Amino acid sequence: MDGKKEYNPSRGRDAVLVDWTIYSWYCPNCRNGVAGLKNEKNQIKVKCEVCGVEMVRTVKSRRHDVIDVYAAAGDERFDLELRRY
Ligand SMILES: [Zn+2]
Repeated sequence: MDGKKEYNPSRGRDAVLVDWTIYSWYCPNCRNGVAGLKNEKNQIKVKCEVCGVEMVRTVKSRRHDVIDVYAAAGDERFDLELRRY
């Protein structure tokens, strides 16, 4: 062994581009924990199972993430303000 990382030819060169990091954060609306995998557009799309809000998190850089929050369809009046507990 020479200490180098083993190259697995069966996975092909495209496997390098796949990021299986699970991104997790808290729903801004109800604080429920959400998690998802990043797609090829550097976006993580999740739906909060508690309040139904849908979120698209875009990873711009290591220091810049953008999280778009969408109220559930038909629930436009949903309170999206940050709550104090
Ligand atoms: Zn929620």
